Order: sequence, then C-alpha cells, then structure tokens
Amino acid sequence: MRPVAPRAVSLLVSLLEESKGRVVEDLLDTSDLDAFHVLRDCGALVVAEDVPVILCPACGDQDVAPQRIRGVLQGLCPECGYVEITNASLRAWKADHDWLLGRLRMAFGIATRQDSEALVPGTVWKVGDHKAGKRTHRILLTRRLSEEAVHKAFREALVDKIERDKAVLISTTSRFAAMVSDLAMPFVHLSEIVHLRSGKLELDTERWAWCLTPAPQRQHDVSAVFAENFRIAVIDGEHYEFSARQAGVFSYLFSVKGGKSYKQSIMDDIDSPQKNPGELFRRNARQWEAFSQLVEWDDYGFYWLKQR
Ligand SMILES: [Zn+2]
Repeated sequence: MRPVAPRAVSLLVSLLEESKGRVVEDLLDTSDLDAFHVLRDCGALVVAEDVPVILCPACGDQDVAPQRIRGVLQGLCPECGYVEITNASLRAWKADHDWLLGRLRMAFGIATRQDSEALVPGTVWKVGDHKAGKRTHRILLTRRLSEEAVHKAFREALVDKIERDKAVLISTTSRFAAMVSDLAMPFVHLSEIVHLRSGKLELDTERWAWCLTPAPQRQHDVSAVFAENFRIAVIDGEHYEFSARQAGVFSYLFSVKGGKSYKQSIMDDIDSPQKNPGELFRRNARQWEAFSQLVEWDDYGFYWLKQR
C-alpha cells in the first residue's frame, strides 16, 4: 500500500517547481491518478489554459495540435490522420498558489485577517507573520529558486523587502538546487514542514522547532552509539569512523527523534549532490556495514535510525 498523501504533496511540489507546471489528467500514469484526485478535490489545483499539443489519442505516440474543424475537436496525426479529441483530454491543471498560501496560513495559525503578499510575483511570497511567545517569524514561500532569473529576483527581494533575522524560508526547491547555503535564515522544504491530511496542511511541529533552532545550537542528546558529533559510532564494541557528510546523515536522522526522513531532505540538509544517504556509504565496506546496522529505509525513500 502506497500512502497517497506524501505522493500528492510530491505532485504539488513538482507542479510548483516547473515553470509551466501543468498536469493533464488523461496523460497521467494510472498509479498517480489517486494523488492527482486528492489535490484536485481539496482545491489545490485550478484549470490552466488548454494544452497546445497532446499525445494522439489513437496511437499514443505522436504529438497532435488540437483544432476545431466544423465544430469537432480534432488533430492531425502524422500516422493516424485526423483523430477526434475529447474535451477531457484537453483539460490541464496547475497548482493554485492562493490555495497553498491559505493552507499555510492555517497550518501556522496565522490570523485570517492577515493576507499573504507577493514579494516577487509568482515565485516569492510573504505567507504571514507567525507569533510564538514574544518572537515573531516571517514565513516566506519560494519556488523555482534554481532558475537564474527567479533566483536573482529572490536575492533582490531579500535585500529590499525581507527582515532577514526574522524570516523562515519554505521552498519547493531543494536546498541544494536553491543555492542558499550562504544564508543564515532557516530553510526548509515544503514537503517536510507540512503534511497533507483531509485536504488541509498540518504543521510538523518537531520539524518546525528544529528549524527555529540556530544550527550551532542543534545539540544532540547523549547517545549510547555515537560520539564526536556523529563522526564515531560504537556498535556492539566495534568502532567505526565517518566523514563529516556521513556524520551529517546520522545527525539529521537523530534530530528527528526516530521519525522518518525523506532522502532528498537529508541530502539537502548536508548539501550533498548524491541521490540518497546510502550512496554516501556504499563505497567503503566498513562504513556501509555500520550504516546498514544503524539505519533502516523503505522503498519510498524514507530513512530512519534503528532503535538500539
Ligand atoms: Zn496517431
């Protein structure tokens, strides 16, 4: 059983990350339809303009441009000739920013009279101000930070419009692709900080608390296994040593207190271009042996520390 909510969030993220992020229901793989329906039914998607070309409905192989001829929608396929096209196959959907901003305000308990504000139209928003005790955090949402023009506009907004010491960045771009390692402000991926439940976004309070803790203060409880900032592990009396990045993986998994973490979030956090934590350990038999004893993972790319 593949839980649908995380896949729905992944689909939402991919729609937001692509500059022309659109999805056509008829072109979706059947295994992704449930995630699409979850998003559509909770209002996260809006109808986009019609698609300029679609796959030929007859052969499924050639691109055809729909046109209306004598009142009938059709397209000229190089292989099949004129083929009829249904309206359903033309309907494209895109992510609705307003929905996302509204749900984020709800997740953070931001007063309903506060409106979100576009700082860079279409790519950078102030979601709202989140008050916790005496501190106020300015929640920002960004997307497509890996695109040069978007990134430049984001940096300009950062100078002109954002109080950096208060801001927290939520992004649909991975930390690695976003090129923000020089920024001191907390940066968290959208799929990590909220979970989709019954059509609403719920704040992951542990991840949020972790975000707000300055990096040098992210101290770790005394661990029976790890020492030297996770550079050393002692497993059943055996002593293992790790690189700084490898130690970063353990540190990250440890910080979420036995919870599961998505591979991309871990790799982003340690600024690694590798695909998943295993890749960092595989080349050294001994380190791989330690990793396999300490960490568990599943087929969906989630990793967690084994209970020891
Ligand atoms: Zn065809």
